[in-house]
Amino acid sequence: HYQAQVTGEDRLTGTEVLLRWKHPQRGMVSPAEFIPLAEETGLILRLGHWVLETACRQLVQWAGQAHLSHLTVAVNVSARQFRQSDFVHQVIETLQVTGARAQLLTLELTESLVLDNVEDAIDKMHQLRTKGVRFSVDDFGTGYSSLAYLTRLPLHQLKIDQSFVRNLGVRPSDDVIVQTIIGMGRNLDLEVLAEGVETEAQKALLIAHGCDLYQGYLLAHPMPVADFERMLNSGAA
Ligand code: C2E
Ligand code: CA
Ligand code: CA
Repeated sequence: HYQAQVTGEDRLTGTEVLLRWKHPQRGMVSPAEFIPLAEETGLILRLGHWVLETACRQLVQWAGQAHLSHLTVAVNVSARQFRQSDFVHQVIETLQVTGARAQLLTLELTESLVLDNVEDAIDKMHQLRTKGVRFSVDDFGTGYSSLAYLTRLPLHQLKIDQSFVRNLGVRPSDDVIVQTIIGMGRNLDLEVLAEGVETEAQKALLIAHGCDLYQGYLLAHPMPVADFERMLNSGAA
């Protein structure tokens, strides 16, 4: 599925790819359920590769359509996938095979994944950054953030975790955390995206704090690519 990412003026800039499993008996199974299992069994390696390749093919499809050719596609990368010694090679090869523009591909990594082996992460990220690939820190603020590493990573974006966005305007401490993340992003010259934006009130507060981009049910749910394109063509986003 694809979920829209927009500016404060609702201009679409990109999309995040979110995996879905349509099970014949159990219906739609959430990735929150099957990703941990796929990590455990190792299936995540094939699954992750398939997601990356599918996302790149989608980029190529959109490259041929004037109103879609600017869209970025963000792909979630799991720890086990990233830790593979040939991860960098896999990504570069996938870009080459599909013909996707590296500049339009964003890889979402979590803090814990990066901190697990900082030197290795920095090395891999720099290699891919040289090719044009962008990096976003997913669920930012929930891990044991080390501010020291932030300045050493070739990052493009921080994604404010939805747990903070949910309580905006409700829990003052979360207001402070969100403002702090946005301020820090600004000072480090990083783009800041808020995820899980569900209400106009949350969006208004985020805009007031200077957040760059938004993603959440308020704007659009994750949806199959055909629905996503229909939504764009109808001018709804
Ligand atoms: P995530 O990367 O933090 O993705 C955001 C989750 O929030 C998604 O859940 C999305 O559907 C949901 N969401 C979006 N907008 C809203 C909103 O306004 N309110 C609320 N309450 N939720 C919102 P989803 O699709 O169930 O995915 C769950 C997690 O599974 C993802 O969290 C990500 O960690 C993982 N995942 C999904 N696809 C992939 C994948 O292709 N590879 C890997 N490794 N992990 C994936
Ligand atoms: Ca994500
Ligand atoms: Ca997230």
